[in-house]
Amino acid sequence: MNFKQKLSAAVLKLNRFMQGRYGIDEISYCLLAISFILMIISRFDKLWFFYFPALVPLVLSIIRALSKNITARISEREKFLKAAEPIKAFIKLQRNKIRDRKTHKYFKCKKCNSVLRVPIGKGKIAITCPKCGNKFNKKT
Ligand SMILES: [Zn+2]
Repeated sequence: MNFKQKLSAAVLKLNRFMQGRYGIDEISYCLLAISFILMIISRFDKLWFFYFPALVPLVLSIIRALSKNITARISEREKFLKAAEPIKAFIKLQRNKIRDRKTHKYFKCKKCNSVLRVPIGKGKIAITCPKCGNKFNKKT
């Protein structure tokens, strides 16, 4: 048996082992990222003790991946994605603010909290919120 055959046999074995198990999802990636960050922190001289808490998310993600209780893992994933929504929205807004920094300014409607984007360099203008109709003056 050459190397290629050995490798494909190992892949087949792994596939058989993972059958009926949950595998990897967004939570796993998040846990692995946390673990990775803690491991990097633990590389600093006086912060070596971060190595042990770094193992916790790593072990958790492995346990989740090997779990056979798929319905429980799916409901965990749904809760996780729902909880991550505002964080994702915040990151997207910050990215857009950086992208549009030369052309647009962002304001928050004080009544309904929606974010409004207006072009820069128009002087003092009256802004009407398209969602709730609230009017306010801002300098752009
Ligand atoms: Zn509004």
